[in-house]
Amino acid sequence: MSIISSILDYNKTFVDQNKFKEFQTTKYPDKKIVIITCMDTRLLELLPKAMGLRNGDAKIIKNAGALVSHPFGSIMRSILVAIYELKVEEVCVIGHHGCGMVGLQSSSLLDAAKQKKESQSGAN
Ligand SMILES: [Zn+2]
Repeated sequence: MSIISSILDYNKTFVDQNKFKEFQTTKYPDKKIVIITCMDTRLLELLPKAMGLRNGDAKIIKNAGALVSHPFGSIMRSILVAIYELKVEEVCVIGHHGCGMVGLQSSSLLDAAKQKKESQSGAN
């Protein structure tokens, strides 16, 4: 069974048992804060618990390295929407120790992508 199939199976049970109801909230963050942070899986549960945040408390925007790299990019657009449409009053950028983006060379990332493409081309 693929990962997505097992997730869909789990989700069906979750919905059938109405477990989503305890997470229902409005689109407006109760604590009026937007957080920009890294997509690192180690932060998935850790960051909200470390900050005392519950579902509905904050808008959380994630990308690799918690970077705002372009003034007109999707991260900045999300921040502007949070402030001007969702009543956010504070913006918080949170990095973390051991981030995979520290020292990442774009050339090694491109080399890995090229190698994967070549190996997939050879498999056909
Ligand atoms: Zn990171």
